[in-house]
Amino acid sequence: MTDKTESLRQEVRSWLESNWDPNMALVAWRNLLADSGWGMPAWPEQWHGKNLGVNEVNAVAAEMREFGAVGVAQSGVRMLAAATLLEHGSEQQKEKFLRRILTGEDNWCQLFSEPGSGSDLAGLTTRAELQGDHYKINGQKVWTTSAHHAQYGLLLARTDWDVTKHQGLSYFVIEIGQPGVEVRHRRQMNGHASFNEVFMTDATVPKDMLVGKLNQGWAVAMTTLANERRGADGLRQQGGGERGSGTIFAELDAETETVMEPYKWYPQRAGRADLMIERAMLTGTHDDPVVRQEIARALILHKTSQWTARRARQAHILGRPQGPEGSLGKLAASNVARAAARVHTLISGADSMLKSDGPMDGLIAEILLSVPAVSIAGGTDEIQRNIISERVLGLPKEPRTDTDRPFRDVPRNIG
Ligand SMILES: Cc1cc2nc3c(=O)[nH]c(=O)nc-3n(C[C@H](O)[C@H](O)[C@H](O)COP(=O)(O)OP(=O)(O)OC[C@H]3O[C@@H](n4cnc5c(N)ncnc54)[C@H](O)[C@@H]3O)c2cc1C
Repeated sequence: MTDKTESLRQEVRSWLESNWDPNMALVAWRNLLADSGWGMPAWPEQWHGKNLGVNEVNAVAAEMREFGAVGVAQSGVRMLAAATLLEHGSEQQKEKFLRRILTGEDNWCQLFSEPGSGSDLAGLTTRAELQGDHYKINGQKVWTTSAHHAQYGLLLARTDWDVTKHQGLSYFVIEIGQPGVEVRHRRQMNGHASFNEVFMTDATVPKDMLVGKLNQGWAVAMTTLANERRGADGLRQQGGGERGSGTIFAELDAETETVMEPYKWYPQRAGRADLMIERAMLTGTHDDPVVRQEIARALILHKTSQWTARRARQAHILGRPQGPEGSLGKLAASNVARAAARVHTLISGADSMLKSDGPMDGLIAEILLSVPAVSIAGGTDEIQRNIISERVLGLPKEPRTDTDRPFRDVPRNIG
C-alpha cells in the first residue's frame, strides 16, 4: 500500500468512525454518504463524489468493506440511469435524480426493447409527440426488468419519422406511476418474475425531461448500453460487504427482498463457475478426465473474462472513451456461463433437470434455465459479434436496407 493510499484509507476510516451509526435510517445514512462524497468517490465533487481515480476508488471501497459500513444504493438500472444523466443530463435533472438514486429512494427501469425491436433497437416505434409543454407518449415496451418497482424509466422513443432511423430518436425520463402507463408483470421459465410489459397510452413526459437534445437520443442510449455491457459480469455492490445488526441492516434486508428480488437469479445466469470444483469433489467426478478438462476450460475463460471486465470498468472510471472491452467482455461472459453450465450438467447428469428434488435444492436446474439470458440481455451474442467485427476488426458492415430512407418508408410489420 502506498503512503497516499494509506492516508486516504485513514481519512475514510476517521470519517466512518465519526459518522457511522447502524441504528440510523438507511436513507439518512446514504444521504450522509452522498454529502460526504465517500459513497461514490469516482463521481464529480459537484455531484456527490470526490473526483477520485481508480486506485483511490478501490481503496475507499476496501476501507468501507473492512469497516462494515453499508454503501450507497448501486444495483439494478439505477447506475445506468446515473451514468447516463451524468454524461447527458441537464443540471436540473442531475439535481432532481442523482441523490435519490444513491439513497435508494427511487428505482429505475430501462424502457428500450419493444416487441419488434430488440437487437434492432433503432427500429423502435414508440412515439413521443410534443404538445405544448410536454411530450405525449404512445407505444409498448417489453422485457422491462423491475418496472413493477420503478418510479422512473429511461425511455427511448421516436420523435421524427421523416429522417433515417437512428436520427429520429429522443431519450426521456418518464414517471412510471402515472395513469397512462400500464405495467404487466411476467414470469420467466426459471420461475422468477423479473420482467414486465409496459404499455404507454397518452402518457406524458414534461418537456424538461428530455435527456440530451431532441432527435439525438441514439447517442444517449449508447451511453446507457455501454455501461450495461461493462457491467455484464454481474451486479456490483460497493462497500457494505458485511451484514450486521441495527436499523440500517434491517432496512437493507428489506430492500434486498423487494427491490433486489428481480436480480436474485443473476448469479445463476452467470453459470456459477464458483461452484464447479466443490460440486466435482462432492460427487467424486473430479477424477473424471473429461470433467477435469471442462472445469479447467471454464475456469480459464472465467478468469480472463473477469480481467477484461475489470479493464473496461477501470478505463471507464479513468474517463477513457469506450474501448472494445464492453462487447468483448459481454461475449466472454456468455461463453463462461455456457461452459460452466456444461460442467454442471456433466457432473449432475440427468438430475440437473430436477427443480424441487434436484441437486443443491434445484440450484443446478436454475443455472441451466437461467444461463440463456446472459446471451440475450443488453445485446445478444450475435450483436456483440457484429460490433466486434465491424468496429474493432474493421470488417465490412452487414448489408442494410433500412438506413438509406426516412424511417416512415422503412418496411416493417408493426407500428
Ligand atoms: C435478463 C434480461 C433482461 C432484460 N432487461 C431489459 C430491460 O430492462 N429493458 C429493455 O429495454 N430490454 C431488456 N431486455 C431485452 C434485451 O435487450 C433484448 O432481449 C435483446 O436486445 C434482444 O432482442 P430481442 O429479444 O427482440 O431478440 P431479436 O432482436 O428478435 O433477436 C432474435 C435472434 O436474432 C438474432 N439477430 C437479430 N439481429 C441480428 C443481426 N443483425 N445479426 C445476427 N443475428 C441477429 C439475435 O442474436 C437473436 O438470436 C432484457 C433481456 C434479458 C434476457
